[in-house]
Amino acid sequence: MTYTQALLPRLALQRDAMVELLSSLVLAESPSDAPQTQAGPQAILRAQFAQLGYAVAHTPGARTGGYLIARAPNPDGRPTQLLLGHCDTVWPVGTLAEMPLVVEGDVLRGPGSYDMKAGLVQGLFALRALQELGLEPPLAPVFLVNSDEEIGSIESRAAIEQLAGEAARALILEPAGPGGQLKTQRKGLGDFEIVVHGRAAHAGNEPEKGVSAILGMMDVIQTLHALNDYPRGVTVNVGVISGGLRGNVVPPECRATVDVRATTMADAARLEETIRALVAPPGTTLTVTGGFERGPLERTPRNVALWQLARQVGAEMGLALEETAVGGGSDGNLTSAYTATLDGLGPVGDGAHARHEHVVIAKMVERAALLAGLLLRP
Ligand SMILES: [Zn+2]
Repeated sequence: MTYTQALLPRLALQRDAMVELLSSLVLAESPSDAPQTQAGPQAILRAQFAQLGYAVAHTPGARTGGYLIARAPNPDGRPTQLLLGHCDTVWPVGTLAEMPLVVEGDVLRGPGSYDMKAGLVQGLFALRALQELGLEPPLAPVFLVNSDEEIGSIESRAAIEQLAGEAARALILEPAGPGGQLKTQRKGLGDFEIVVHGRAAHAGNEPEKGVSAILGMMDVIQTLHALNDYPRGVTVNVGVISGGLRGNVVPPECRATVDVRATTMADAARLEETIRALVAPPGTTLTVTGGFERGPLERTPRNVALWQLARQVGAEMGLALEETAVGGGSDGNLTSAYTATLDGLGPVGDGAHARHEHVVIAKMVERAALLAGLLLRP
């Protein structure tokens, strides 16, 4: 039996301990926008890292609960590999009252279980299994847990990018795809605000002196929607518009909020350039603010090589792994610009940000074993 094959039976013994740790994390409700609640899961995680003998530091946030960085002892200064996850959820405190923690057979339900406290549990147990088996990963593990992922990693982004820049690869513990697939592509996400300025005038007495910003914005919206190219993975959505003062005034201003996504860096750059160069309709002026917040997680050669490695490790365990592309972003979008990145290494289940959120417990065991096997590879 190879080391890889020893991992699955080893982790199977930890099934109940994994459920117990995940339960305690789910019971510690931790929405991103209530920073003080993050102390709950962070205390649990700190104790876990301490048990592993990792040096763990908490960087407090100004508007968030901050983040934890836990480092394996690394006296020889080996290159590192980054494990990345978040302990914040989209669920407000009190959600447990109507969406309780339930363990039923092979399913665990509860807010934040699938997205993505189970991923943190899998990461911790993968590291623990390696330690118990006396197996030293060739790349020293560094584990970052932020508490602001669901609000755009507003305060942890710099630390993520720095650690990714130092690491040989980044393993993202976000949920797997709907059929358990690993995630090798995520669209990049841009957010723009466009304002058209016209000129106000009395709509009855002297409408000819006014310039309608709403009419101007209609032109701009047509131009924006024409940029959509679904087969190519380019989407442009004018999601919110507002403008005008009252019925009898030619509207002097109109605003639009635009969500833009792209599958490649090149498309993202081209879209950003096009939107910044939008021409104001006659008689109006136009301002554009915003840009791409997260670049795409692309199927770059180094990302594909990491995915192939994971697939090979899976095959050695008897797992037939598949890959998928998704539209939503994660912190994997951030690390991909700096290092080889594989996403979706977290739990198998369903219902991220939804009432039926749950994880499959047997798959937690399986994916922790997969992660442990991957951590062992140079
Ligand atoms: Zn997530």
